[in-house]
Amino acid sequence: MAGGTKGAGASGPEGTGGARVASVETLAVHGARPGAHAHDAVAMPVVQTATYAFETSEALRAYVEGRHDREEYGRYGNPTVRLLEARMAALEGAEDAVAFGSGMAAITAVLLALLRAGAHVVLFDDCYRRTRQLVAEWLGRFGVQATLVPGGDVAAMERALRPETRVVLTEAPTNPFLLVADLPAIASVCRPRRIRTVVDATLASPVNLRPLEHGIDLVVHSATKYLAGHNDVLGGVVAGSGALVSLVREVRDVTGAMLDPHAGWLVLRGLKTLALRVQRQNATGLALARALEGHPRVVRVWYPGLQSHPSHAIATRLMRGFGGVVSFELRAGFEETMRFVDDCRLARIAPSFGGVESLVEQPALMSYHSLDREERLRLGITDGLVRFSAGIEDTQEIVADVLRALQTSA
Ligand code: PLP
Repeated sequence: MAGGTKGAGASGPEGTGGARVASVETLAVHGARPGAHAHDAVAMPVVQTATYAFETSEALRAYVEGRHDREEYGRYGNPTVRLLEARMAALEGAEDAVAFGSGMAAITAVLLALLRAGAHVVLFDDCYRRTRQLVAEWLGRFGVQATLVPGGDVAAMERALRPETRVVLTEAPTNPFLLVADLPAIASVCRPRRIRTVVDATLASPVNLRPLEHGIDLVVHSATKYLAGHNDVLGGVVAGSGALVSLVREVRDVTGAMLDPHAGWLVLRGLKTLALRVQRQNATGLALARALEGHPRVVRVWYPGLQSHPSHAIATRLMRGFGGVVSFELRAGFEETMRFVDDCRLARIAPSFGGVESLVEQPALMSYHSLDREERLRLGITDGLVRFSAGIEDTQEIVADVLRALQTSA
């Protein structure tokens, strides 16, 4: 069937009712907006359907022969989800984008689309632990070799390349140490070798970083985080050239990792306030990082906006802001760090980041609890490490609450 072959129809900066705009702020609200929605609704309706009817077999023939652009079946496309895809393409400066039911579904589809048995992939090793598990542990089952290199270390990446390397994958910034690799350098090493470069820019959002502008082939997001922004929905997005995105879309259409229409609507709604939210989160992240640096109970702060961060120079060059996530190491053991987390009153104890509610976690107890301590330490996950994700609450109140918790938990 013809299903799943259509692009998102991204109309880029021009898809804004004729007004030529290119700012992330305006594109997040209007990017790729069609002339009118059904019933003249201002907001895109949720098109809650699993399948689409053809009036006649002749109409079906026109569709399968590519003469009529429309939907066929819910696993291949949905108008609400397609608007989200087109808006994300506009925001990333991409030809096309495709949405998934989660960020991990998006990353998995990219790797399935680009890799074959016998291929090799390089992953920068400071990353979401499920991405590391997928690349370092699971891909081997399908005959794909992986090499992990230190986060941000482009020279190590270059040394790791082999004739059979097909993909280089990094987060930017990385989770949890917020390292930012030199993306133009990665692109200039990989492009002549026909190695596809993929950046998971979940921690940046297109407000802070647009990897395609730096020569990267595909950008991936967990839409669960900044894009949707309300800690109430899971989603994923991949954006890039029309040719690459259609390979990734084909994987989605076969594996069934489609984003639900209502979830797509929530992400689309979240996007409208993306720029406002991220600007506040950038301001709070920086204020919090500065307040923590030099605090007697803090050994080290990881935030690319600080001069002390190893990626400060490159992040300053590539990013418009440094985000709302701040990682820091307390001068404290496991139990004392648990007390600090418990004493934070504004932030809830939860995984995830990028939403309107501030969240705090002790990675050794939350995301990395299944690893033994030695293995955790090898990844830099100390007992005193804390990851704080600023929401959109008042900046001074967030900072004051964290400083108070540092005092009361000592
Ligand atoms: N990428 C990064 C950087 C993440 O931190 C996460 C989850 O925390 C994911 C991808 C996975 O996203 P999802 O939870 O939407 O599958």
